[in-house]
Amino acid sequence: MSKLAEHIKALILAEGPMGLDRYMLECLAHPSFGYYMTEEPFGVSGDFTTAPEISQMFGELIALWLAEQWLLMGQPTNTKIVEIGPGRGTLMADALRALASVPTMLENTSVHLVETSPRLKSIQAETLRARVGIQWHNHINEVPEGPMLLVANELFDALPIRQFIKTEQGWAERHVGLSDDNAFEWQDIACTAPPHIAAPTAQVGDVIEVSPASSSLMADISRRIKFQGGAGLIIDYGYYENATADTLQALKDHTYSNPLENLGSSDLTAHVNFVPLKNIAETTGIHVFGPVPQGVFLSNLGIEARANQLAAASPEKADDITTAKERLVSFEQMGKLFKVMGLAPQERHASGFEGRS
Ligand code: SAH
Repeated sequence: MSKLAEHIKALILAEGPMGLDRYMLECLAHPSFGYYMTEEPFGVSGDFTTAPEISQMFGELIALWLAEQWLLMGQPTNTKIVEIGPGRGTLMADALRALASVPTMLENTSVHLVETSPRLKSIQAETLRARVGIQWHNHINEVPEGPMLLVANELFDALPIRQFIKTEQGWAERHVGLSDDNAFEWQDIACTAPPHIAAPTAQVGDVIEVSPASSSLMADISRRIKFQGGAGLIIDYGYYENATADTLQALKDHTYSNPLENLGSSDLTAHVNFVPLKNIAETTGIHVFGPVPQGVFLSNLGIEARANQLAAASPEKADDITTAKERLVSFEQMGKLFKVMGLAPQERHASGFEGRS
C-alpha cells in the first residue's frame, strides 16, 4: 500500500468517511505524497498531455491575447504577467518568446508564477532559465500590487469537488470510506439538498458537483482584476450548462483508472462547471467574455495562419504542425470540450470571442 493510502486510511479510521473534496486534496496536494508533489504528470511519459505541451502555438496565441489587452489598457507599467498552475512552464516560455516582439512590454512587466508544488516550481525554473527575475508565489493574493495579465490552463479541473447524489431516499454526499475488509469504497451519506440551481428538478441517480475551492479562487481572481485592473483567460475542459453527471476521473499513463486505486500516482480531475465561475466573476462586477470553445477561440486568433507560417519555416515538420493544430481546434479532439473564458474589469474589445457571447 502506498504511503498516501496508509495516511488516508488512518484519517478515515480516526475521523470517519472522508468527503470527496478532502480526498482529492489529499491525493493531489498532500505535501509529501500528493500527486503534484511527487509525479511527472505531463507529456508522453506522463499521465496526460496538455495544450501547451502539444504545440508552441498555444502559448503564442495566449500571449497575443494578453498583449492586445495590455495595449488596450494603455500599456501600464508595473503590470504583472501571471500564470496559475504553470505545470512545466512551457506555456509561459512560449508566451514570453512571443511577447519579446511587443515593443516595451517585457521591460514594463514582471512575471509571476503561482504554484503549490515545490517539485514543479523547480521544473518551471529550469524551463524558464533564460528569463531573469521570475517570482513564484503560493497564492494569487501574494502577487505584488499592479494590473494583472493572467492565464490559467487546466488548473480548475485539478481543484477539489464535492458530489451530491439524488437517491430514492433523498440527497446523499459522496464520501470515501473503508469496507469490512479494509479496502477503500464509496459511501454516500445522507445530507440535506445541496444549495444548487439544479437540485429542485434533479432525478434519482443525478449527481450535482460543486467546487468551493474553485469558487473561492475565482472570487480572488475577480476581485484582483476589478480593483487593480488587468485581464485574464481561464481555459479548461468542462461544460457551460447545469449538468447533473459524475465527471470525476482518474488518469494514469494516459488511461482511465479507478479513482480509489493508485492513490497519489494517478491524476484526479473533474470537468469544470463554468456557470458558477462566470456568475462569481460577474457578481464581483467584472466583465466576462465567453466561455467559447477552445477551437473557436484559437481559430479566431489566427492559429491557421500561424501553423502555415511555422510549416513554411520548417517544411519537414509540416505534418506534425497540422496534426498538433487539429488536436487543439478540432471539435472531435480538444476544440469543443475545452472552453476559454475571458475576464476584464469592464467591457472592452477582446479578440478571440467574436461571434459568441
Ligand atoms: N497549466 C499547465 C499544468 C496543468 S496541471 C499545463 O497546461 O500544462 C495543474 C497545475 O496546477 C500543476 O502545475 C499543479 O501543481 C498546479 N496546481 C494545482 N493546484 C493548485 C493551486 N491551488 N494553486 C496553484 N497551482 C496549483
